[in-house]
Amino acid sequence: MLKGKVAVVTGASRGIGAAVAKKLASLGADLALIYAGNDALAEAAAADCRALGVRAEAYCCDVSDGEAVKETVAKIKAELGGVQLLVNNAGITRDGLVATMKEADFDEVLDVNLKGAFHMIRHCSGLMLRAKYGRIVNISSVAGLMGNPGQANYAAAKAGLIGLTKTTAKELASRGITVNAVAPGLIDTDMTRKLGLKEEALKSAIPLGRAGKPEEVAEAVAFLLQADYITGEVLRVDGGMAM
Ligand code: NAD
Repeated sequence: MLKGKVAVVTGASRGIGAAVAKKLASLGADLALIYAGNDALAEAAAADCRALGVRAEAYCCDVSDGEAVKETVAKIKAELGGVQLLVNNAGITRDGLVATMKEADFDEVLDVNLKGAFHMIRHCSGLMLRAKYGRIVNISSVAGLMGNPGQANYAAAKAGLIGLTKTTAKELASRGITVNAVAPGLIDTDMTRKLGLKEEALKSAIPLGRAGKPEEVAEAVAFLLQADYITGEVLRVDGGMAM
């Protein structure tokens, strides 16, 4: 159970982030849901959490903006009392072959997916260090483990998140803070629906023969947030895809 703890989830307005927020609320955590732009969707996700009997507030914040993250974390502390759990889930794709990829698309994906997690960890870990307790989970991807044609920027950011996870795990372990990563495979969300993948293609690429559900990723995140003796781990939730 996570009763009495405050969880910050980035990219929580939809998809995997919304499922994680709801799962943590079902375990009793209070929620700060960070999102990029869709106020109505974020408010609805926060309302879903409140319906489970916890406090939940939505905060619009671009995680790639360090100053905005600093201000938002201070606001969360003032309104919810602290941060014990952090899930870095916000992510975007700007796919293209490396030879023709625009530099701006490379930078934007790195800024949101990797630097965003860095900003969040910096500002939340300050609060965790003082309390000598914290649990952090970064959402990486099997693309960061295997590479994926057309996703040089995304795979680099997701591989970078694994390095960030292991380094911060080592830096923060002695202070009661664990840092782990979850590497989803193909999960059925807005991000992947636009790819229009055929069932046959999924069956051949994924040993378990289907895309995963956001709730199945949320289960793994909740497990790692409650584990006291696991740190620096990368847990695949991919139906065997990156085996
Ligand atoms: P999604 O596109 O459905 O949702 C992304 C969320 O991130 C949204 O809430 C959006 O508001 C938020 N976001 C985007 N840019 C932001 C920014 N600059 N600041 C704050 N929030 C921002 O995506 P999803 O499929 O739910 O993916 C969630 C995470 O899981 C991402 O990091 C993604 O890379 C990762 N992932 C997804 C899959 C998949 O198959 N869907 C597979 C592996 C990893």
